[in-house]
Amino acid sequence: MTKLHKAYIGGQWLTGNRGSFEVDDPATGESVAKVADVSLDQVEQAIDAANQAFESWRRLSAQERADGVLAWYDKVRENRQRLAEMITRESGKPIAEALSEVDYGASYLRWFAEQGVRAGGQTLPTLPGGRRPLTLKQPVGVVGVITPWNFPLAMIARKAAPALAAGCTLVIKPAAETPLTALLLAELAEQAGLPAGVINLIPGTDAAAIGKCLCTHSKVRKLSFTGSTAVGRVLMAQSAQKIQRLSLELGGNAPFLVFDDANLEAAVEGLIASKFRNSGQTCVCANRILVQRGIYDSFIARLKTRMASLTLGPGALPGADLGPLISDRAIARVESLVEQALEAGAVQTLGAGRVGEGSRYHSPTLLESVTPENPIWSQEIFGPVVSVTPFDSEEDGITLANHTEAGLASYLFSDSLSRAIRVAESLDYGMVGINEGIISSATAPFGGIKSSGLGREGGQEGMDEYLETKYLCLGGIG
Ligand code: ADP
Repeated sequence: MTKLHKAYIGGQWLTGNRGSFEVDDPATGESVAKVADVSLDQVEQAIDAANQAFESWRRLSAQERADGVLAWYDKVRENRQRLAEMITRESGKPIAEALSEVDYGASYLRWFAEQGVRAGGQTLPTLPGGRRPLTLKQPVGVVGVITPWNFPLAMIARKAAPALAAGCTLVIKPAAETPLTALLLAELAEQAGLPAGVINLIPGTDAAAIGKCLCTHSKVRKLSFTGSTAVGRVLMAQSAQKIQRLSLELGGNAPFLVFDDANLEAAVEGLIASKFRNSGQTCVCANRILVQRGIYDSFIARLKTRMASLTLGPGALPGADLGPLISDRAIARVESLVEQALEAGAVQTLGAGRVGEGSRYHSPTLLESVTPENPIWSQEIFGPVVSVTPFDSEEDGITLANHTEAGLASYLFSDSLSRAIRVAESLDYGMVGINEGIISSATAPFGGIKSSGLGREGGQEGMDEYLETKYLCLGGIG
């Protein structure tokens, strides 16, 4: 077993006490590697290593930690192509998207390295009796990280960068579908000179037991999770025992509103970018397309033409717009969602279902006449299926958009400034793209409200997730 297929614990590359598990290439279904499957003993070993490293990492100057994160950033940049090829191999996404994921993930490393050196407390006005209040910003402690397969690099970078810059140390469990990119990232951290134990990477298949350990272990102070709402709920309940801090980036159900006064070409391009990124497998993908009646027919006509021009193919093939879905289970789920939607009255006006028996390619599919009662309305589709609903007034559009428990991303297209502001203010979501389909950036707070989670990643808010504010009250000064 090569180093890059092992667990990385306390600066050592270790085989898994539970043996190994297979990682496959979604484009072919063939096995590409066998990776260490850690036991709970090894999870505890990783927590101990992180806890030990925390004592020295937290005491470094902010600039020294920032230099460490920047050295990691440099290694990621140097290995851009290699990382992107790894992302494509295990997640199936087109290589162009994998390259932009590397750039996007790296941008968090740089941004938080820069932010970490500015993360200070405050001196506050003198209190009665001459007492002086001041605040310190201190790292939360050891952080457990659990990430999904749809952005194998960026979901780790987005959490690790602020955590490390703040002075925290990490135990990271990547998704079992995509541990190879995570391992390469850990190796680059080692090459960058990050001390042993600061980052620990524990690939494993017993996700429920690992998750429980990261929620309940007394030496772990926080859990940062990106994944499904169902698992987020379990983690939150488990974390209640010791009131553990949580950041949760959970499922979305993004509305994409197109108003009569929208630039239709921009709206179609925005929708293609948002909906079909990673073949529709992101939590911010447009999920319910709401189109005002006045432009409904012309919007749909343009959309159909554009969807028909999308090419499917292995992610490694330059020029493929859509790769395979992540797993057999994922494509079976999308097929069943489409079936249920059609049974509930939706009309399929484009699409040919699964392409090739046993493959994981799903053709771009257009479903019209979807109503809020249709089961697909309340599901995160996670596939290249566009679900469309017409609406009449601005008010109707907002009501339909907010008709969900989720509250992550939302989008609206309108050339009226006043309408755009009015609607953006009325949308119950953590993020609103206005005439824009791709919104995430290291400088901006990414996150959801309602059942879509807790906390933000990116921006100053992303840094605060890994810091405690301590209040000092100085008396006897005179
Ligand atoms: P998805 O359906 O996108 O795979 P999940 O929420 O199931 O979303 O997975 C996201 C991450 O959560 C993965 O790393 C997965 O291994 C992990 N996971 C799955 N079930 C649990 C659980 N019960 N406790 C902790 N982590 C879990």
